[in-house]
Amino acid sequence: MSVITVHDKSFVSYLPESLILEKIKALADELNRDYAGKKPLFIAILNGSFMFASDLFKELHIDAEICFIKLASYKGTKSTGHVITAIGLDTDITDRHVVILEDIIDTGKTMNEFLPQIRNQQPASLKIAVLLHKPDATVFPIQIDYCCFSIPNKFVVGYGLDYDGLGRNIRELYQLETGPSV
Ligand code: 5GP
Repeated sequence: MSVITVHDKSFVSYLPESLILEKIKALADELNRDYAGKKPLFIAILNGSFMFASDLFKELHIDAEICFIKLASYKGTKSTGHVITAIGLDTDITDRHVVILEDIIDTGKTMNEFLPQIRNQQPASLKIAVLLHKPDATVFPIQIDYCCFSIPNKFVVGYGLDYDGLGRNIRELYQLETGPSV
């Protein structure tokens, strides 16, 4: 077990790069089967999913497109409340087979607010593929169609995911150190 410091916190090694890549390969095999002949459009959500999307896309052997978007969240009017908008979604998704690529689903709030916007554009199908899911933290109803790892409700960093802007370049996943167990 190795311990690293990111910013001001200690993290312990959690998922090695080899295991992450193995799971991503298995996910790609599934997608290669499920989307053969469907020319899917993958929508990867920045920033956190960039490594996941890159490693997954390299393992796809079907005709497929990918685009990258960013989700910006801001306070709307009194009636609209909190709003999430997609920046950079300039591909027409009507009648396309769409797969959203997300690094992690925690509470599910982000996806829960974003998905209706995609559904409104009437894709032929819409599925979600995530690297990590924290089932114990998820309170919004999200159907996750493809998931590499279900993990405990602890903060993780590395493999594209940051802590306060740092740690995205770490090749494996680390978990916040929560002190010695007794
Ligand atoms: P949700 O809306 O599902 O609660 O949160 C989604 C976003 O919170 C993710 O896209 C990610 O940016 C951030 N997040 C949630 N859990 C973690 C975590 O354990 N580590 C990191 N680095 N980000 C997280």
